[in-house]
Amino acid sequence: MSVEISRRTALVGMAAAALDPMALAKSLAPKPVGWAILGLGSYATNQIMPAFAHSENSKLVALISGHTEKLSRFGQQYAIPTSHRYTYDSMDEIASNPDIEVVYVITPPATHPEFAIRAAGLGKHVCSEKPMAPTPQDCQRMIDACKKAGKLLQIGYRCHYESHNLRAIKACRSGELGKIRELRSDHGFNMPNGTWRTQKALAGGGSMMDIGIYSLNALRYLSGEEPIEVSATITNPPNDARFVDVEDTVDFKLTFPSGLVGHGTSGYSWSPGKNRYEIRGSKSTLIAEPATGYDGDHLTLDGVELPVTPNNQWAAQLDQMSRCVRQGGKVLTPGEEGLRDIRIIQAIYESAKTGHPIKLV
Ligand code: NAD
Repeated sequence: MSVEISRRTALVGMAAAALDPMALAKSLAPKPVGWAILGLGSYATNQIMPAFAHSENSKLVALISGHTEKLSRFGQQYAIPTSHRYTYDSMDEIASNPDIEVVYVITPPATHPEFAIRAAGLGKHVCSEKPMAPTPQDCQRMIDACKKAGKLLQIGYRCHYESHNLRAIKACRSGELGKIRELRSDHGFNMPNGTWRTQKALAGGGSMMDIGIYSLNALRYLSGEEPIEVSATITNPPNDARFVDVEDTVDFKLTFPSGLVGHGTSGYSWSPGKNRYEIRGSKSTLIAEPATGYDGDHLTLDGVELPVTPNNQWAAQLDQMSRCVRQGGKVLTPGEEGLRDIRIIQAIYESAKTGHPIKLV
């Protein structure tokens, strides 16, 4: 455990403690883990960067972007000194900046492997957004690079840290619902054209990669099982420019080792959208809607609202990784978790293409 307290800091802390015991506790607390955000788009600037204010042991210390205007604007907003602002071209200089311990990659999925592998090679722990990468081979390269560098790899599956989803998982595991008989999860919205999300080369795929991954991941964390077989169909509306390169609606079925079947959907042309899951047990039914939102998630058990205290899921995600950096331990959503989803998504695409169920080994 690297507790960086200089003798001088400790003495100052003890002097302060004579006046205020809270000051001593604060002066002895481990230094927060320093994070650099790579990619200053919508999710980074609207969800992740504001969450540092709610974190316990994570600090935003640097920015990496392809746009100098954004570096300047967000650098000023978050009081990041110019010495800690990097372009993709100057990013290699982070290697000699000890303040940066984790690089959080928040760019289009096809760019995750290059940035993640580069960051690990520069001696930094890595967090990558979901979907981890377009192919299982890309995911494996990211895992291998972090392992080789002796660095941690977290995938930004925020729902694993969110209180309603944690409560739903507890309901599934504790027997509260009886034996689970059926699982459904539906996620979709109306995607505008003209962004990287409808370009396969950057997104890796369509709705399934971007939003359907929530349905898939939920079916896995709710069941607590890994699917052994998958079957799927894909439907694209004709004459819709958004679906020339990537898919729209995906209907998929996962068969789990216990015999349980999970049904999932995903869509890019749904208005209104859907964001829900439903778990039917032999005793009770749990419905989450919204299930995986940024806020306002809602759970009902047999139609009655389940009280759950909301938390800041992003701060919880950052802090879990930071605890592992300081104290050791396992990242809750490691690269292997991202790889599992990408393997299943590839099988979903394969099943839709061939019209046959695909066995997963
Ligand atoms: P965005 O388009 O708003 O931002 C993408 C950023 O990446 C931009 O700043 C862009 O300049 C930069 N970028 C770097 N290389 C690029 C390239 N080659 N082409 C285009 N842009 C490039 O997208 P976003 O919504 O912020 O999504 C970014 C990542 O975060 C994606 O992986 C996405 O799946 C993920 N995301 C996750 C969640 C979540 O809830 N976990 C939500 C939204 C987005």
